Amino acid sequence: MIYAANFKTNHTRKSTQSYIQALNEKLGAKKSEDKVYIFPPMTALDLYEGAFTVGTQNAYPAHNGAFTGEIGLEQLDEFDIKTILIGHSERREVLNESQDKVSQKFSFFKTQNFEIIYCIGEPLHIREQGFESVMHYLLAQLDGIDMHYEKLIVAYEPIWAIGTGRSATTDEILTTHSALKKVMHDIPLLYGGSVKPANIKEITDISGVDGVLVGSASLDVESFSQMVLS
Ligand code: PEP
Repeated sequence: MIYAANFKTNHTRKSTQSYIQALNEKLGAKKSEDKVYIFPPMTALDLYEGAFTVGTQNAYPAHNGAFTGEIGLEQLDEFDIKTILIGHSERREVLNESQDKVSQKFSFFKTQNFEIIYCIGEPLHIREQGFESVMHYLLAQLDGIDMHYEKLIVAYEPIWAIGTGRSATTDEILTTHSALKKVMHDIPLLYGGSVKPANIKEITDISGVDGVLVGSASLDVESFSQMVLS
């Protein structure tokens, strides 16, 4: 199983250091086949050691240059970061990243041999239109994405389940993951959206779920490690 923690705009450099120290103490009991990823805010990126991979929540698709407010490869290389989240719904919706921009970012980081956790997910009004609309929407978010890239992980995160406390039902996750798996070959597929200690087992037991991407419930190290060790 894959367990990925997305801190978003939470935690500081200092609190991330304490978190990672505490996480390391817990991860001794982790199953060796399980993989853990931590995506802290950019100000907390560093060369951490432990049984996890640190990735960046975002970066500009360039080595360096005149891109005010962004970081590029040069800044990521300093901390040996080779993993990136691309296409998160908050970047698509709040920061207006188009599919074109998202796929350009994907291509750049693919060329750099990054491990990419690529997020897709539909808004509530699309879910309410029925399953055909959901799949049409999700497949459009795979436009321009090389589904044969060997360092690709996809995360299905219905927008209406993110940060709302309301996860998708077992049946919704099962049917969506099964349909996605048909076009994804062997790519690991994560579920994200209100995953927490109370529902982790139910979600990771669903066929076609290879792991989880967790926001709110990953902010507390006890809660995140409880999920990893579940
Ligand atoms: C996310 O934003 O990737 C996410 C899954 O958030 P939450 O767990 O808070 O729903």
